[in-house]
Amino acid sequence: MTRKILVTSALPYANGAIHLGHLVEYIQTDIWTRFQKMRGHECWYVCADDTHGTPIMLRAEKEGISPEQLIARVHAEHSRDFAGFHVAFDNYHTTHSDETRHYSEDIYGKLKAAGLIEVRAIEQFYDPVKAMFLPDRFIKGECPKCGTRDQYGDACESCGAAYAPTELKNPYSAVSGAKPELRSSDHYFFKLSDPRCQEFLRRATRAVCENQPEAINKLQEWLGEPGENKLTDWDISRDAPYFGFEIPGDNGQSTGKYFYVWLDAPIGYMGSFKNLCKKKGLDFDAFWGKGSTAELYHFIGKDILYFHALFWPAELEHAGYRIPTSVFAHGFLTVDGAKMSKSRGTFITAESYLVQGLNPEWLRYYFAAKLNGSMEDIDLNLDDFVSRVNSDLVGKYINIASRAAGFVAKRFDGKLDTRHLNETFRAELPGLVDAGEEIAAHYEARDYARALRRVMALADQINQYVDKHQPWTLAKQEGQGAKLQEVCSLLINAFRILTIYLKPVLPKLARRAEEFLNVAPLHWRDAAHLLPPAHLINPYEHLMQRIDPKQVDALVAANRESLAPTVAVVPAPTSAQAPSPQRHAQHQQATEDKTQGQAEPKAQHISIDDFAKVDLRIARIADARHVEGADKLIQLTLDLGTETRNVFAGIKSAYDPAQLVGRLTVMVANLAPRKMKFGMSEGMVLAASDADGKSPGIYLLSPDSGAQPGMRVK
Ligand SMILES: [Zn+2]
Repeated sequence: MTRKILVTSALPYANGAIHLGHLVEYIQTDIWTRFQKMRGHECWYVCADDTHGTPIMLRAEKEGISPEQLIARVHAEHSRDFAGFHVAFDNYHTTHSDETRHYSEDIYGKLKAAGLIEVRAIEQFYDPVKAMFLPDRFIKGECPKCGTRDQYGDACESCGAAYAPTELKNPYSAVSGAKPELRSSDHYFFKLSDPRCQEFLRRATRAVCENQPEAINKLQEWLGEPGENKLTDWDISRDAPYFGFEIPGDNGQSTGKYFYVWLDAPIGYMGSFKNLCKKKGLDFDAFWGKGSTAELYHFIGKDILYFHALFWPAELEHAGYRIPTSVFAHGFLTVDGAKMSKSRGTFITAESYLVQGLNPEWLRYYFAAKLNGSMEDIDLNLDDFVSRVNSDLVGKYINIASRAAGFVAKRFDGKLDTRHLNETFRAELPGLVDAGEEIAAHYEARDYARALRRVMALADQINQYVDKHQPWTLAKQEGQGAKLQEVCSLLINAFRILTIYLKPVLPKLARRAEEFLNVAPLHWRDAAHLLPPAHLINPYEHLMQRIDPKQVDALVAANRESLAPTVAVVPAPTSAQAPSPQRHAQHQQATEDKTQGQAEPKAQHISIDDFAKVDLRIARIADARHVEGADKLIQLTLDLGTETRNVFAGIKSAYDPAQLVGRLTVMVANLAPRKMKFGMSEGMVLAASDADGKSPGIYLLSPDSGAQPGMRVK
């Protein structure tokens, strides 16, 4: 059955460059939409620049250009960066568009008619020199808690306190430096606290988050128990001067008020799609109308979950539109285990990555290998990035084609012989074809990490076939020509199937592989059959280079050096990871996720003597390595002070070897040695996990500082 699917990513704010933190989301969404298209579904991927607001207005003013000129320039930059990373939107629009204005006014009008808009006077800081009301981030002063100077109006960067701008001591305007005055102004509110909204959200929004238990927990927390009213009304307006859409008054009168982000930016999802509908002749209502049977998905950062799971569905419902099928929230990006940092050179822009000549598909592959569909943060470990791309992508996958292609070209004029392959293929490479549906299910669930682990296990199997049949030996032997041709033909076919499984992640590489294979663009269903008997392939050109670690060093150095003063009037939000409308997200809503794993039933009692039989020791991880061909294992060399032990630990889903080296842990030192497929395991390290062992919920134990290798744990 062909599904109709509409997919969005959050709208990046038109006030800054795309960086690797943003790309986690766009690459994740792009992989998913490419996958759906390969499966033959009707799938549209739309996005837009979020172009309105005070920061845009002030920045344009500072640069001496109009806001329209600024957002046009940024639109071109963003489009270039996304294209550079092969993010293939079906439409990349702007919120400063007739379409978005139309739906903003339409939704506002319907909410107003439904009695869900209320006007209230609020007191706000006003800059008397600049003659404008000041957003929180444009007010600075001394932290009311710790007294640190030059803190912003919403939170203190020194002590972390959150507060209202009116609580700042000695406040001043970051725009003019003037002392702000408190003034009253009428603001428009969407009544999210209205019983109709509460009732609707309790009934309907669990489904929107049902793919993510962490999100369901959050919703539960925000909505509270039945009868509780924890939702507050949302301010949807801003005073002039402002760059955006004016809120229409009754009978065409001017209100002097502008739609703030909540009735503006996300409506850009609709505006962009409407724009696409005009270009392609699509039916807008079939996707957005009430009762639509199309699927609608928003990929977002976890910090804007509140907005997408509560405000947005309530707004759509009461304006007569359909609500999202699902919201897919993801975590933030860290680099080498820490927040991206300009001083360390890990705040890396998309542009600099491309300018430094790094292959964007390396990063797509690495992100995909880390993304598992949860809201956990993902870490770009730069050493692991190099080794994983080189060993998996180039060493395992690309190698298959390069090892077979030369013989086919030199000895058989590029001609394959697949006449007998139908019998041998499944026998030699069991699972290669059948794994297709399993891998597809992992993509569908956005567990790309699992999909790629499966693909690499298949690549291992194919490489074992190469080692078993040794085409280079066959090539030297008399009378083995037919055998050589068959072995190479099998390898080329196997490579083609892996290419299909990797194509959502590596679209450009797949296109080049298709040229080499001399085939039409590959679809998922093509994995079910082999190439025709006497198929001709094209000469092989190397498909992907290995990463030279020096390139990564140069990238970090380039981003460290580019520490020029930022042009932006407003500093990037502290997390600076997820795209806007995160700029408006409230910090308290982005608090840590609580993982509420089910407690395992406790074991029966044992005596102290039973426990004493277990010799637990502190061990230092002296070395940690990937195990060739093992899905779950990491090989550890454990230093016990007086001796070292070799231990295979099933912790690969949760740890990268590089981050383990040097740390202390606890091991069972008197466990009987066990012969494993990969060697002898001489003990066991201790780790916590939840009852269902859900990957990657594995937590290695660490002693307090001061413990020494070899110490007994009692
Ligand atoms: Zn403080």
